Amino acid sequence: MEIVKKTASGFYNLLLGMKTTLGFLFTHAITLQYPKERWPMPERSRGVTALLTDEKTNRLKCTACRICEKNCPTQAIKIIPAEGKDEVTKKRYPEEFKINQGICIFCGICQEVCPFGAIKLVNKYEFSVYEKKKLVYDKNRLAEIGQGYK
Ligand code: SF4
Ligand code: SF4
Repeated sequence: MEIVKKTASGFYNLLLGMKTTLGFLFTHAITLQYPKERWPMPERSRGVTALLTDEKTNRLKCTACRICEKNCPTQAIKIIPAEGKDEVTKKRYPEEFKINQGICIFCGICQEVCPFGAIKLVNKYEFSVYEKKKLVYDKNRLAEIGQGYK
């Protein structure tokens, strides 16, 4: 008798599972076929950190003040200020500006403390690489990612 009960219960649960599956069969899929498809990221989502460029001068907005570097909780930012000033903007600028995206925790502190609006966490999130050292982005790479952002 026990075996009949168990078999009936098994069939019942099987049908229940199939009912759930069939219920979703003709509905719109909520998953994406990544990387062929991607979710559009919200404008203010915090992704990779980038440097912004001044549209008028076509120079980085960064003046190499190093405030972001001092405030970064993971020491992901390394800046070497240039000796002189930029000939166009007459302001200081970074000779080197590196961010280790591998240790960045996307806290947004650098963006918050920057007095010049020069650094921003943009809504890009795909930066997987096979080697850790490739996660250290230099000034040019950071500026390239920041193109089009304000
Ligand atoms: S987002 Fe946070 S951890 Fe990343 S570079 Fe900026 S301050 Fe550092
Ligand atoms: S990004 Fe902003 S806070 Fe950081 S060094 Fe440049 S100007 Fe200063």
